Amino acid sequence: MQSNNPLRLIKLLTLHSLLTLSAAQDFDFFYFVQQWPGSYCDTKQGCCYPSTGKPALDFGIHGLWPNRNDGTYPSNCDSSNPFDASKISDLTSHMQSEWPTLSCPSNNGLTFWGHEWDKHGTCSESVLNQHDYFATTLSFKNEINLLQALKSAGIQPNGQKYSLSSIKTAIKQGSGYTPWIECNNDSSGNSQLYQIYLCVDSSASGFIECPVFPNGSCGSSIEFPAF
Ligand code: 5GP
Ligand code: 5GP
Repeated sequence: MQSNNPLRLIKLLTLHSLLTLSAAQDFDFFYFVQQWPGSYCDTKQGCCYPSTGKPALDFGIHGLWPNRNDGTYPSNCDSSNPFDASKISDLTSHMQSEWPTLSCPSNNGLTFWGHEWDKHGTCSESVLNQHDYFATTLSFKNEINLLQALKSAGIQPNGQKYSLSSIKTAIKQGSGYTPWIECNNDSSGNSQLYQIYLCVDSSASGFIECPVFPNGSCGSSIEFPAF
């Protein structure tokens, strides 16, 4: 190809860099998702405690998920960069306490963490390498204490029902950000607080108000089970 016209060369280069950029970062923000262990365990399917023991009475990390403003999201973006536990060996004890797995059979968590990296983490590797994907997610958990925010508003994990709006208000008060609440059903079919979503900017530098919320809704009054 002849490119002796400088304007044409600049146009080609611009197009190339735009294409490279859009391929490198095909998302607009992250959902930072935490799960309530009591609501994972009291379902029909039940749960298994990790091999390291029963997790603390606290929300646990589910994941940090790249998402687009139109509600869609990329997944499983790079099979050439699979999860490698040796890259996060310095984070193991922190991972075990803050990102415990509850799936059966009982295990040490590597399967859950590997799934999260392979499905979601590989889609943000232009921003966060494997070590930093986990380290940064752990640091977000440290920044906002959801259970404390709820307790400060008198909302306790005691099996009672609370209004969805009081839960959202408590988290907004405690964290400064509006959460999205996902519910599931306990083994008797009662709607309960399962996961809490907050949003993080596309550089993973801090929390933002969510550009868009996932679909679905809880009832107006939901249980907060014990664990
Ligand atoms: P579910 O269908 O149970 O809501 O979600 C199954 C899995 O799909 C989630 O654990 C997560 O990995 C992915 N997922 C569901 N909804 C979203 C979403 O809105 N954004 C992203 N990035 N992932 C999602
Ligand atoms: P996602 O819903 O993020 O796509 O997938 C979650 C996957 O991780 C499922 O295959 C699920 O069995 C596994 N998993 C392992 N431990 C946990 C856990 O503690 N909570 C959730 N939600 N999924 C877990």
